[in-house]
Amino acid sequence: MSVTHLNCASFRPALTFGGRAMPRTVVAHCLLVERPDGLLLVDTGFGTGDLADPRRLGQPFRAILRPVLDPAETAIAQLRRLGHDPADVTDVVLTHLDLDHAGGIGDFPFARVHVHAAELDAALHPTLKERGRYRSPQWAHGPRWVRHHTAGDSWLGLESVTVLGDDVLLVPLAGHSRGHSAVAVARPGGGWLLHAGDAYFAAGEKETPRTCPPGLRLFQSLTQADSHLRHSNQERLRELYAAHRDDVTVFSAHDPAEYAALSGTGGA
Ligand SMILES: [Zn+2]
Repeated sequence: MSVTHLNCASFRPALTFGGRAMPRTVVAHCLLVERPDGLLLVDTGFGTGDLADPRRLGQPFRAILRPVLDPAETAIAQLRRLGHDPADVTDVVLTHLDLDHAGGIGDFPFARVHVHAAELDAALHPTLKERGRYRSPQWAHGPRWVRHHTAGDSWLGLESVTVLGDDVLLVPLAGHSRGHSAVAVARPGGGWLLHAGDAYFAAGEKETPRTCPPGLRLFQSLTQADSHLRHSNQERLRELYAAHRDDVTVFSAHDPAEYAALSGTGGA
């Protein structure tokens, strides 16, 4: 098994949001996992359908986060450059179904798409408040959804749900969205990778709350589904990081420094 870190969408956010400073760059950190029985993606950034019709991403989102929309960054383009056949992607595991994570699933129409049941319910039947974050055209092709329910399993003291074998797990960390989950993938050399999705936005938050650029902190608060759950789950993630930082590589979806360090691409 091998793992490749991919950035499947870059952003150059507006300088400020609500009058507060934003980061200069944001990425969409995804994983390509080569397993004996097929390729697996963790999150997908934007897909070719989003680039063909960027209007479907919505004007407010584009004005605040200013996605670059580079066709070379789509997961399907990167897979091809790495010499893979996109048809070999058998499984996609999503931290959640926000538009900047689920955009690529249409490029892998035959893959199973694994997601926490609460997240799928939110995306398919959003409340009025949730309508702004999900984009139904991203799943108009009718994905092979696999709904995962919490069933009492645990992983390093956190609730977990087996996705594939013993080496790919969902770790529910709701709050950012209704069924938001981290994804744990066994590291080829032992230990684990933990893709924490949008459980936090800036690397410093793994150790210290509120260390995110102020504009992005405001954005996190305005987009959260449940403030109490988000903060308590972020705290549990900090406890996990403190106890297991040598065995578990923790990273979030959008921090460019974490992506640079893990992908070996140097500066952010
Ligand atoms: Zn996101």
